[in-house]
Amino acid sequence: MTGVLSGRVAVVTGAASGFGAATARRFHAEGARVVVADRDGDGAKRVAEALGPDALGVTVDVSRSEDVAQMVEAAADTFGGLDILVNNAGIIHAKGSIDTLAESEFDRIVAVNLRGPFLGIKHAVPVLRRSRHAVILNTASVGALVPRLNTSIYSATKAGIISLTRSAALDLAPGIRVNAVCPLASPTPFLAGGAGGDGAVYDAYVEGMKSDARHAVPLGRLVRPEEVAAAFTFLASDDAAFITGVALPIDGGRSAGDMVGR
Ligand code: NAD
Repeated sequence: MTGVLSGRVAVVTGAASGFGAATARRFHAEGARVVVADRDGDGAKRVAEALGPDALGVTVDVSRSEDVAQMVEAAADTFGGLDILVNNAGIIHAKGSIDTLAESEFDRIVAVNLRGPFLGIKHAVPVLRRSRHAVILNTASVGALVPRLNTSIYSATKAGIISLTRSAALDLAPGIRVNAVCPLASPTPFLAGGAGGDGAVYDAYVEGMKSDARHAVPLGRLVRPEEVAAAFTFLASDDAAFITGVALPIDGGRSAGDMVGR
């Protein structure tokens, strides 16, 4: 670690688990003070306590405006400001053809995956404007670029995040950079939600994804949370000072094209 985020204050949502936890750990290792934010408040506190005094665990439901406002306030009150917001919390629905999905599922997924990042941006911008290194990062998905069968609502929200990222990059320039990442699938607990939360179904689903990856992903495997954290670290750092409005695939080449005939 080279301390590329030394002196920065970051908020990472969905940071009790998966990509968010890996990102909170990496940012901390790079010198940032980190607010570990999650609906799972106990999980957030566990991640923060393991990091030590420069980390704070907070409970937040990113779909609730007052929660998100308090999360930003916690960063400013505890660490004196905010430089980096990572809108990472996200959920997926059980797999199903678009015509079979319930309206209530649409509302539930949109509330977290799209309203959440909107609220994050809205509440963080007034504080970010005081930073000389202000960055907003959003977790989209390779599903936004190459939608997967039976994940329509999810893929639509992630495509929406890319659009939100580009629009915010325009609206908030030059003071605040805004970028997104588009990770491939990763065997975090997230996929269990999409497979109905049943352990056996989850294992079969992950195995299926791994076998798909061997055929359909040029680099032949799923993504590791640490690889998403590494991309976020680069995009948050001054090395990316001239990069805004991008949606960076972290997908082993999955969105580059198909592998038919391999
Ligand atoms: P994860 O389930 O391991 O972690 C997600 C975290 O978000 C959990 O700790 C959960 O409690 C939290 N969360 C859920 N709803 C929330 C809410 N309303 N408010 C606050 N926190 C909430 O999942 P992950 O794989 O680390 O996913 C993180 C992000 O990456 C998501 O946006 C997901 O869509 C995206 N993504 C995941 C994959 C994958 O295959 N794992 C692939 C591409 C993109």
